Amino acid sequence: MGAKSIAVLTSGGDAPGMNAAVRAVVRSAISAGMKVYGVKRGYNGLLNDDLIEMNLRSVSDIIQNGGTTLFTARSPEFNTPEGVQKAAANCKRRGIDGVVVIGGDGSFRGARDLTGAGVLCIGLPGTIDNDIACTDFTIGYDTALNTAMEMIDRLQDTSESHDRCSVVEVMGRHCGDIALQVGIATGAVATLVPEVPYDFDRDIVQKIEMVRATGKTHYIVVVAEGVGHTEELARKIEAVTGVESRATILGHVQRGGHPTVRDRVLAGRMGYRAVQLLEQGLGNRVVAVKGDTIVDYDITEALNMPRVFDEELLEISGKLSL
Ligand code: ADP
Repeated sequence: MGAKSIAVLTSGGDAPGMNAAVRAVVRSAISAGMKVYGVKRGYNGLLNDDLIEMNLRSVSDIIQNGGTTLFTARSPEFNTPEGVQKAAANCKRRGIDGVVVIGGDGSFRGARDLTGAGVLCIGLPGTIDNDIACTDFTIGYDTALNTAMEMIDRLQDTSESHDRCSVVEVMGRHCGDIALQVGIATGAVATLVPEVPYDFDRDIVQKIEMVRATGKTHYIVVVAEGVGHTEELARKIEAVTGVESRATILGHVQRGGHPTVRDRVLAGRMGYRAVQLLEQGLGNRVVAVKGDTIVDYDITEALNMPRVFDEELLEISGKLSL
């Protein structure tokens, strides 16, 4: 039997487009005749019974805003068997039989456990890093890319004026997708990602020397957070090449800002699918996008999928920045 009363929460790190996803879930659920609750601060809200019933107007004017109006949190208490049982009991007491969880892999593990405790859960991928294997794109990734690109464009202006090398760290602890895309989009002379080991001499020094010999006077090196040592790298580049080098760590600016069209539309389509699945009485599913098609997978199957990094695109990136 399909869910009649559902809840929606945002969990783990925030991402632009989470509000658009919440809005889509709320509006789709109400259209389907369901009751819908907004849960505050991720799984903590289920444990503390901190939730409010939403109506059509509860999600007005949020589609354009970054962050999450439901707030988000990490919940160590939920990550225990007792925590999961308590959250499930709170849901059942309120008659909630489905929950849409917007977050990353950790949040999906929680959704799997909560489904096991009798509350149908659907995961929506909301994280800027694009580090979820089952989907081509996560909600928030496109906005983060555009923010990082714009910031690097600005650094490019000043690097050019001063004949400098800008070494820029972008987000991505285990996933180099932001670095790769932004490296191509900004014409970085080198892009370092956690998935592919790099050689300082071959991939950075020789590359700078090569393009310097053709008349280039300023350089961008993009480094994914997971590679790290960004300040040290800038110092080494300056010491070895003689080009004045500055490190910039973009950090959490990449997590904020108005979501792009792509992220808003993706969030809308995914939120709608999540409600359809709950209507059909399905749980333990994660919604994803493959090409331009919205699909869904069993959560365990999705968590076991290997992430594939596009090494060919990294090579192409190197060839384009000669
Ligand atoms: P993300 O969803 O962005 O990967 P986290 O890994 O911090 O973020 O997970 C968010 C929350 O999901 C955690 O605080 C915890 O409550 C829950 N969670 C994470 N891992 C598990 C797990 N293995 N089992 C159950 N719940 C989990």
